[in-house]
Amino acid sequence: MNYDWSEYRKRRSLFILVMFSFIPVLIFIDSISKENVSLFCFLIFIWVFVIFFPTSWYFGKTPCPRCSKAIYLRSGFGFLFSPKCVNCDLKINKENN
Ligand SMILES: [Zn+2]
Repeated sequence: MNYDWSEYRKRRSLFILVMFSFIPVLIFIDSISKENVSLFCFLIFIWVFVIFFPTSWYFGKTPCPRCSKAIYLRSGFGFLFSPKCVNCDLKINKENN
């Protein structure tokens, strides 16, 4: 049976974009905060809690094409690099299973 992975790929792209934007964000925040360490830590904290965690959650909540439950989350916990759906063991990104 063929499953539609387009939603998964869209969310994964967003997550990877946010993950790899960390170094440019770090450099940008460093240039803004100059020598002010507490401002630097505050801006990193804001970036992690406002951008990174919600994006991770959004990616983890991707509906599985077979069981339509969150692909990486079970009971609110999960592993974002699992090779298969944590609920039904469907292999990620395989067209035929
Ligand atoms: Zn599943």
